Amino acid sequence: MARKVIVVGEVRSGELRNVSFEAVAAGKVVADGGEVVGVLLGESVTDLANQLIHYGVDRVVVVNHPELKSFTTDAHQQALLQVFDLENPEAVILGHTALGKDVSPRLAMKLNAGLISDVISIEIQGDEPVFTRPIYSGKAFEKKKINEGVLFATIRPNNIASLAKDETRCGDVSTLTVDLKNLRTIIKEIVQKSTGGVDLTEAKVVIAGGRGVKSSEGFKPLQDLANLLGGAVGASRGACDADYCDYSLQIGQTGKVVTPDLYFAVGISGAIQHLAGMSNSKTIVAINKDPEAPIFEVADYGIVGDLFEVVPLLIEELKAV
Ligand code: FAD
Repeated sequence: MARKVIVVGEVRSGELRNVSFEAVAAGKVVADGGEVVGVLLGESVTDLANQLIHYGVDRVVVVNHPELKSFTTDAHQQALLQVFDLENPEAVILGHTALGKDVSPRLAMKLNAGLISDVISIEIQGDEPVFTRPIYSGKAFEKKKINEGVLFATIRPNNIASLAKDETRCGDVSTLTVDLKNLRTIIKEIVQKSTGGVDLTEAKVVIAGGRGVKSSEGFKPLQDLANLLGGAVGASRGACDADYCDYSLQIGQTGKVVTPDLYFAVGISGAIQHLAGMSNSKTIVAINKDPEAPIFEVADYGIVGDLFEVVPLLIEELKAV
């Protein structure tokens, strides 16, 4: 059954985040032949609209407003509600990101709609989209559908492949003027502090440090390794609790969930709560001086040794390549 689907694109530092294109691919499945409308919110984001069209949306509604320059719950919620009012979508897809996690439950509640979060795949069964999401810290998966009303879904970054870019695709780009009032909170940063501009949840390479790194200075070589590999630095809660780094870098059950191609666990023991956030990484490399550390049970490659010796050696080797 064809549906009208809105896909909310995410803009960070003037660029569309990859999860936006993955959300478009998800939107196409849910639309099941219906129209996919991209929505872009920002201070001046019209120039990005064609990228969404190249990745598969049929048309784009752009909302430019100074209050949308940085992410704030109030401004984004109000702007999106005004877009929905005009468009009457049957489904809305967002990334399972700080923005998506923040606004989707609020919007779904306002519209008396159902929300399925952290989706990793979608299929059409009969006429209806069925969403798969991990449960029990990724140990099991459940399939969910929404029986009636508007459907909201957030998709986990790096899990649903975006469609091939087609620069010959054309579509209408319209701008909508919105009225944003009573803004309460300005959140200065969109949660993810990444290194070298690489977003932690979208990074293909993650170098995560644990309590074994011993200090914030100890993270410096990890940062160097991440820079070398075009990756992002992450951390265990142990490292965050010890104040070696910011909590925005925490990976795990109560932190971020990452699924990079390559994950380095450096001085991380491998507690179950940490594994919940990274065990679906494609290749896991563990560096730990304790050969009995549980992280080695999930690692594809294990290096038993002192991280303060191993990481500089790795950097040296990689620079030589
Ligand atoms: P440790 O367990 O102390 O491990 C440090 C490791 O470093 C050790 O294995 C040690 O052998 C190694 N090491 C030390 N020095 C060196 C060296 N020089 N070279 C090489 N290796 C070295 N944790 C998370 O990470 N994310 C979460 O989201 C999370 N959520 C939680 C939620 C709840 C409700 C609870 C109860 C706990 C949660 N935790 C979470 C905490 C989790 O249980 C662990 O305490 C935490 O992951 C441990 O962090 P760590 O591996 O850095 O530290």
